[in-house]
Amino acid sequence: MGTIGIIGAMDVEIEGILAQMTDSTIEKSGSFVFTTGRLGGKDIVVVKCRIGKVNAAMCATALLAKYDVAAVINLGVAGAAADVLNIGDVVISKDLVQHDVDAQPYYAPGQVPGMAIRFAANAALAALAETSCRRVFAGLDNKAYVATVATGDVFVHHREIKERIAANFGAYCIEMEGAAIAHVCQLMDIPFVAIRAISDKAEGGANVDFEQFVATSAAFSAKIVVDMMENL
Ligand code: SAH
Repeated sequence: MGTIGIIGAMDVEIEGILAQMTDSTIEKSGSFVFTTGRLGGKDIVVVKCRIGKVNAAMCATALLAKYDVAAVINLGVAGAAADVLNIGDVVISKDLVQHDVDAQPYYAPGQVPGMAIRFAANAALAALAETSCRRVFAGLDNKAYVATVATGDVFVHHREIKERIAANFGAYCIEMEGAAIAHVCQLMDIPFVAIRAISDKAEGGANVDFEQFVATSAAFSAKIVVDMMENL
């Protein structure tokens, strides 16, 4: 098993991983700080990409250029798109779509010209993540879903916008990096999965919930990834 690349957009999303790593070494590339080391007996490299699609794509590109990475995991928080989700639940990407891409009438809504409509996640990594969720959520009410993740350069905090994204794409959660990283991984033929814990409901007051729940939800996503590394 080669090195696993782990990307989070914010410090709070990668802290839980960094805290569990051993043999950590820091290496910089431009403004990205890569931490290489061991977790669950695996070689990993962790990096904060910052928020948004360009940051995420650039970071994934730098990661794949600098390290011989066998797979990439994006962890962190997201707003709920499906009404079934509660704060603290987790969405594991089945596939990912860039909800803010629109080249109609030539292409389907969300489709990047020349690419598939959705970026498929790696099914084996998604299955592993699902098993890890079961272990991490043992005795808790939190639930995990393998479903569509919608990504865009938008912090969604209006119910109408959330509902449109949910209806157009069948999305379960909304965030700002996953599909951009999936896009880079697809171009480079690297297996990818996103693990997103719900921090808010992507409607009015989303920013208030986000501030309240970002740390606990981010910690759940990190625990799941730690468990994945222990069982990979
Ligand atoms: N408070 C931050 C901004 C957070 S933006 C700051 O001050 O910089 C929200 C981040 O969490 C993004 O990385 C995104 O991937 C995810 N996210 C959580 N809820 C979201 C929502 N409702 N809409 C879009 N992204 C969301």
